[in-house]
Amino acid sequence: MGWGQEPHEGWADEKLPDGRWLGPTRRGEPDPVALRATCSCGWHSEREHAVPPRPDHPRDERGIGHGPAYDAWIAAHEAAENSCWDDWRAEHFDPLLGYEPSTQLILGRSDGGPRHFLNGHPVHAGSSLELLLADGTWLRIRYEWDWQPDTEPTAYAALGVPAGAENLTDAPLVSFKLPARAILRWPENRP
Ligand SMILES: [Zn+2]
Repeated sequence: MGWGQEPHEGWADEKLPDGRWLGPTRRGEPDPVALRATCSCGWHSEREHAVPPRPDHPRDERGIGHGPAYDAWIAAHEAAENSCWDDWRAEHFDPLLGYEPSTQLILGRSDGGPRHFLNGHPVHAGSSLELLLADGTWLRIRYEWDWQPDTEPTAYAALGVPAGAENLTDAPLVSFKLPARAILRWPENRP
């Protein structure tokens, strides 16, 4: 139905025209007037996202709406649902998980351009960072980014080479996108 899993399954609850909230039942008539983030544990956001009224629109032979006004209404509904997902995650679920903001890449600006910050310090292309792995170890990575706010930074990690070969050949590199929830820290010798 929604996001996450029991006991914290979130969804966009529907406010009916009479002011009642639909709750965890199947969607039906009438159309909602607003949506708000709700969780199966009983939590709900205080923020309501209004949904515009259904426009007059043509219907096809199956009764399904179509046309620009209908498409715009569907898009507005989806935007309200996405806002609820943002609310559920930011207000409720992420705090439950306990991520520390000081261990996350935070997108900000410096010198007129977008830039990530880690624990208050700007992260530059080529910066060495340490990435927490599932077994509790930290992996040294090199950070690179193309300055596009909608793309994730790339992590590069150097692989090992045979003993004695360090001076003869470059270490092979592996790269991967850094997900938004990567836990990072600065190396102890941060410049
Ligand atoms: Zn919950």
